[in-house]
Amino acid sequence: MSREPIIGENNSSQSGGDSNATPLQKSSPKKATSEPQMDEDRSLRPKLMDEMVGQADIKAQLQIVVDAAKRRGEALSHVLFDGPPGLGKTTFARAIPNELGTTIEFASGPSLKAPKDLVPYLTNAQEKSILFIDEIHRIPKAVEEYLYTAMEDFRIDMVLGEGINARTYSYRLSPFTLIGATTRAGMLSAPLRDRFPIRHHLDFYDLPELKEILLRNAKKLQIEIDDDAADELARRSRGTPRIAINRLLWVRDYAESKADGKISVQVATDAMKMADIDNLGLDKQDRQYLETLIRVFGGGPAGVEAISHTMNGAVDTIEEEVEPYLLRINMLVRTPRGRKATSKTFEHLGVDPGPLENPDRLF
Ligand code: ADP
Repeated sequence: MSREPIIGENNSSQSGGDSNATPLQKSSPKKATSEPQMDEDRSLRPKLMDEMVGQADIKAQLQIVVDAAKRRGEALSHVLFDGPPGLGKTTFARAIPNELGTTIEFASGPSLKAPKDLVPYLTNAQEKSILFIDEIHRIPKAVEEYLYTAMEDFRIDMVLGEGINARTYSYRLSPFTLIGATTRAGMLSAPLRDRFPIRHHLDFYDLPELKEILLRNAKKLQIEIDDDAADELARRSRGTPRIAINRLLWVRDYAESKADGKISVQVATDAMKMADIDNLGLDKQDRQYLETLIRVFGGGPAGVEAISHTMNGAVDTIEEEVEPYLLRINMLVRTPRGRKATSKTFEHLGVDPGPLENPDRLF
């Protein structure tokens, strides 16, 4: 038997448990995190789904399952959100307990290194409360397997004692809801994915939605912004609410320092230029990626590892943060042989595609 105080599922488990066993204290090296302090991000974050802009289909479907769970007086089924960073996964996860009138605990995949790290979150979970695991694709296999019985049967097995005194106890959990968020749904194993009956993919936002988010946040922050300046910022926000808000905060500072505090289209354009954000909203990293693909790899096809290593970037960051938007705006295509630039990429970077030695490198 393992000397680890907590192990994965064990067939020799006895039910009932030992009344002297205090699994929480024995097995919880650290306490589950409570809600972070109020900060600017949180005060701007919509509290209810109705206050969120866009994602209409997801909101409508979630309203139904939330409503049904409330009527039945049961815990909501487990929910998985996937999509690139900054599109609202955490915002949905925080809005759901507000809609249900319950509480939420936060955990993050990379901090759950072993099953024992997960135990305090599970044993602390109240009936019908929410446990949110961000970056759930980063949990190791042993933690993932430990989650299976917790999610399905609301039960975990624990080993108390050591050596010949070691005993496995089955610990009954209160029925809770797990909300997982991931930027890499493809990295989740099928057994884990299948344990989330409710799954939603968040897509990029269109320009009117981003403009609406910018105007709502400008109002909350009492920033004066012209209508055409909001259009301009929306165009340069990479389809992402978090980026839109960050651009707005930068332009607010710029306007306060360099102008009279009001955001006109000229102020917005000047501030974007200073931050090296081009007219499509692409930043330095995006352009470096595209330039590497074009100038070093002749437009591709090239593997993402080769591109990342050449530009000295982390493959994960490139795959999670850079490529999804470039794919979305047709500046990049993925082929079985690797990433390829498109004619739009050459045009945007002002590079002449030159003679087509390799005709399939372009559309
Ligand atoms: P993710 O968890 O997907 O990385 P977040 O939920 O943290 O993204 O969203 C980033 C920020 O963008 C939030 O602080 C929130 O203010 C804003 N935001 C995200 N989605 C929406 C939305 N649908 N409507 C309004 N604001 C949003």
